Amino acid sequence: MRFPLDLDYEEWRTLCMEEWHEPPFRADQICGWLYERRTLSFEEMTNLSKELRRKASETFGPAVPKIEKVEVSKRDGTQKILWSLRDGESVESVLLEQDGRKTACISTQVGCPLACSFCATGQSGFVRNLSCGEIVGQFLAMEKDQGSLIDNLVFMGMGEALLNMEAFLKAVRNLKHPKMRSLGARRMTVSTAGVVPGILALAESNLGIKLAVSVHAPDDDLRDRLMPVNRRYPLSELFSAIRFYQEKTGDRVSIEYLLIDGLNDTQAQAERLASRLRGLKSFVNLIPWNTTCETFRKPSPQKVEKFRQVLLSKGIEAEVRRERGEDIDAACGQLRQRRRAR
Ligand code: SF4
Repeated sequence: MRFPLDLDYEEWRTLCMEEWHEPPFRADQICGWLYERRTLSFEEMTNLSKELRRKASETFGPAVPKIEKVEVSKRDGTQKILWSLRDGESVESVLLEQDGRKTACISTQVGCPLACSFCATGQSGFVRNLSCGEIVGQFLAMEKDQGSLIDNLVFMGMGEALLNMEAFLKAVRNLKHPKMRSLGARRMTVSTAGVVPGILALAESNLGIKLAVSVHAPDDDLRDRLMPVNRRYPLSELFSAIRFYQEKTGDRVSIEYLLIDGLNDTQAQAERLASRLRGLKSFVNLIPWNTTCETFRKPSPQKVEKFRQVLLSKGIEAEVRRERGEDIDAACGQLRQRRRAR
């Protein structure tokens, strides 16, 4: 069975002309329905002949994952969506709204092989990659559900996008394509835990999307423990890749830094982070740990501010990211974990 959002524009043209013996503009019509009007059923594509609608319905399975559950934060309206996929697996997306702009965070894998010690998804293991259509489908189905366009898209839900490179790159190309969603590249960001070959490939791809890198520790010893991916790609290699990316693209890179009390939030660690970032065009998002658990503790606001001040004093731009959706556990993996525990 094929799935409509797995195809790119050229594949639609080939299918229309070579298998269905239709003129090539049918590809434009179908992509218009799917990506602009977010009509995800062929039966509703009324400018196609009945015969073509029948053929298309027989060829393809459902366009998008099914919404299984939505939780909405009473504090800030952040929505967390649990999707059920065609094989019964599930992934999560988050929809945030700030200053009138909507941002979707979507998943690229079921589970994650990188096993970061602070992450519910990482602790539950890796199941499989999502297809291009399952990635794009989360975004389009959220837009359909909202009845409005979403401004920004971040590939940072469950999974590591740069370990699912083929489907991820195809998803970005389809979302950018003028005959499909035509979402500007600057509205898309990929967040990585530091998969160096992926960063290098992204630098060469000319896709123009933005890069965010989760660093979370300024030294290899600690980062090895927090993020096992560091044993494969230690900080020196990671920062060489980030510098290469910046030379190629000229883009500023976002550095994500989760602050955990007594672990990575000292003044000395802030200084070491600053020295790693010297000469790099970057912006540091400081994210105070905020989940209740036995292993990690939340740092005090004073410590967070002190850490930020050290970075600023070294000429590094840094901001504390306001927590969103705290009351619904908006961090990735937790809704899926609860579903698996049922
Ligand atoms: S934080 Fe991201 S990269 Fe790390 S285990 Fe979780 S999903 Fe994977």
